[in-house]
Amino acid sequence: MTRVFNFSAGPAALPLEVLEQIQADIPEWMGTGMTVMELSHRSKEFISVAEQAEADLRELLAIPDDYAVLFLQGGATTQFALLPLNLAGPEQTVDYLVTGAWGTKAVKEAKALRRANVVADAADSNYTDVPPQVSWQCTPGAAYLHYTPNETIGGVEIHEPPAVGAAPLVADMSSTILSRPVDVSRFGVIYAGAQKNIGPAGITVVIIRKDLLARDAQASLPRILSYAAHAEGGSMLNTPPTFAWYVAGLVFAWLKRQGGLAAMAEMNHGKAASLYAAIDESPFYSNPVAPAYRSWMNVPFTLAKPELDGEFLTEATAAGLTNLKGHRSVGGMRASIYNAVSQEAVDALISFMADFERRRA
Ligand SMILES: *Cc1c(COP(=O)(O)O)cnc(C)c1O
Repeated sequence: MTRVFNFSAGPAALPLEVLEQIQADIPEWMGTGMTVMELSHRSKEFISVAEQAEADLRELLAIPDDYAVLFLQGGATTQFALLPLNLAGPEQTVDYLVTGAWGTKAVKEAKALRRANVVADAADSNYTDVPPQVSWQCTPGAAYLHYTPNETIGGVEIHEPPAVGAAPLVADMSSTILSRPVDVSRFGVIYAGAQKNIGPAGITVVIIRKDLLARDAQASLPRILSYAAHAEGGSMLNTPPTFAWYVAGLVFAWLKRQGGLAAMAEMNHGKAASLYAAIDESPFYSNPVAPAYRSWMNVPFTLAKPELDGEFLTEATAAGLTNLKGHRSVGGMRASIYNAVSQEAVDALISFMADFERRRA
């Protein structure tokens, strides 16, 4: 069987070159007589993999020296709990901007642990738009302001980090990290589960400004929940997910070979623009998101005849275009077009959509 064009929202497509490298590294790797999965995380071979991955990530995102990079377990969902626990005391308020399903989950977790305030919630637009910043009710002295730059389910992306007051900006970048350059210095914390744009599921990247590691709340936490302890322990308080870390490193090296994040931004912008143009030009397909906030990574779209959804998906799969079913909360279709999904894949989807419309609309 040949490889399909995979539009999965996550775990998502990985670059073929990376998969071929993994294959070449099994069953014997770097003269060790074993694979990367089978040796100690404290071995010099693995330490060099881990250090190179961090160095490449720092180079790709131009991460300043006053930021620590952590490679943790538990996915972005675990960060929903660790952020309030680490960055705020029990008497402090944490602010959340909610523009979709993931932000909703993040603030729910924060509310269970700390005083959490929703500065604005885009529920009124059914999460197809972002409330204007003048309407945000931010808390003076908030421990941080959390937002979700790219809402993976609704396909809503805030393309520029908002200029906020003194509160450090905390961003769940799970589905947008590495899709374009970002100015890391604008953020207190950036975090991302790996399985969209970094690598396989099982590892989570946390980029945190070092002064935030000194916040009091961490001192009373169990070490395994403390960012400060993880930073001090080089993300090796316990056995890290070594295989996922190694694959993430291969993806970072691949991104560098593609020309880095400026080149990815150009490619990703081109992919998204071509798909949205095809949707907008057709009376049969539509995307509900306000144009200024349309995601480069996740493109939901509906058919004018929802009764044809099933046939669209069956025919698309038969044509080698897979995982296009929309999230159950939104319905319709969703094409996730992360870094490893090529313009060729997007072009194949666009021609399939035009052909389906011609035959079935
Ligand atoms: C996928 C996703 C998550 C959940 O990630 P897990 O690693 O499954 O915990 C959280 N936030 C966003 C924006 C996501 O896309």
